[in-house]
Amino acid sequence: MAETILNRRIVMAARPSGMPTAENFRLEEVQEPRQPPQGEVLLKTLFFSLDPYMRGRMDAGPSYAQALEPGGVMEGGSVCEVLASSSADFSPGDIVLAGTGWQTHPRASAKGLRRIDPSLAPVSTALGILGMPGMTAYTGLLNIGTPRPGETLVVAAASGAVGSAVGQIGRIKGCRVVGIAGGEEKTRYIRDELGFDVALDHRAPDFAAQLKAACPDGIDIYFENVGGAVWDLVRPLLNNFARVPVCGLIAQYNGVAGGGMGSAVALRSVLVKRLRIQGFIVSDFAAQREDFLRDMGGWVSSGQVKYREDVVEGLENAVPAFIGLLQGRNFGKLLVRP
Ligand code: NDP
Repeated sequence: MAETILNRRIVMAARPSGMPTAENFRLEEVQEPRQPPQGEVLLKTLFFSLDPYMRGRMDAGPSYAQALEPGGVMEGGSVCEVLASSSADFSPGDIVLAGTGWQTHPRASAKGLRRIDPSLAPVSTALGILGMPGMTAYTGLLNIGTPRPGETLVVAAASGAVGSAVGQIGRIKGCRVVGIAGGEEKTRYIRDELGFDVALDHRAPDFAAQLKAACPDGIDIYFENVGGAVWDLVRPLLNNFARVPVCGLIAQYNGVAGGGMGSAVALRSVLVKRLRIQGFIVSDFAAQREDFLRDMGGWVSSGQVKYREDVVEGLENAVPAFIGLLQGRNFGKLLVRP
């Protein structure tokens, strides 16, 4: 048996300005030792996750997490099989949740790994509905959105990994749920398959009028995933004491201006309507992981919460898929099977 194994990986070649292009990435091939050093494991990536936050990591400057440096491997969550182990905690054949990013055969410290039980759910769900995006939806909606029966919940990017879970949890909590998504296929899916009360296409020319008509009693909770133009239309419809969990601003990640959050008008409405607008990062609620797994695991196995995965085959296809994610071309939790 060869003493090394080929690891193919994608690194950031140069920082993007605006929307990333293929030139911002580079595919590299390196050899990894078959027998990892003490305390480490050699992994085979079964799936890795593509998430909007990765765009933020490509920028320099202060954020909630450290920026990626040019030449660094694109970071992110992964589900891997252990091929070889020099750690007492893991054995070949174990399936683990790792943070090894865009690569096929990474080496990793055993310390950062979490074992996954493949008998409980498809292992890919550890990156989606039963993983970081699902927990983002659960913790953001329940802690900040505080949904109550009969309230109107509006959620943006509603067919995506986070938004689809937010809307379904909102339904379970008795809210009337209005989902906003891009295009006919996605709106049909959230209404007909996920059971949202109303589904609106943010690209429709009369979207503003449709949103107003869909919320005759105003909006009690707006789960913000996109920012930009959608936020501008939602804000005037917010009720007194409305809650706005600010989860993501994908419409603004590529430097596109938009959103009147900083304007005097926006601040006035925060005061006059006693709005509660709160940003959060899922890790703020790490202590609620067991609650999340219990509740979401139960909802998924009972069929009360459905999920959809968009699986891209091949490491080299990660780059166009990631660029597509920033333009709304994914449909469901975006994963790569490298
Ligand atoms: P999604 O699976 O929802 O994919 C992103 C979607 O965003 C696209 O499919 C597209 O949907 C929509 N979108 C893209 N550009 C625009 C735009 N200009 N205007 C409106 N919608 C747009 O991604 P996730 O569910 O993984 O993430 C959703 C949000 O949650 C992101 O903002 C992300 O950064 C954030 N997030 C935050 C976390 C936290 O801890 N705070 C953790 C995880 C995610 P469509 O075609 O419907 O427009």
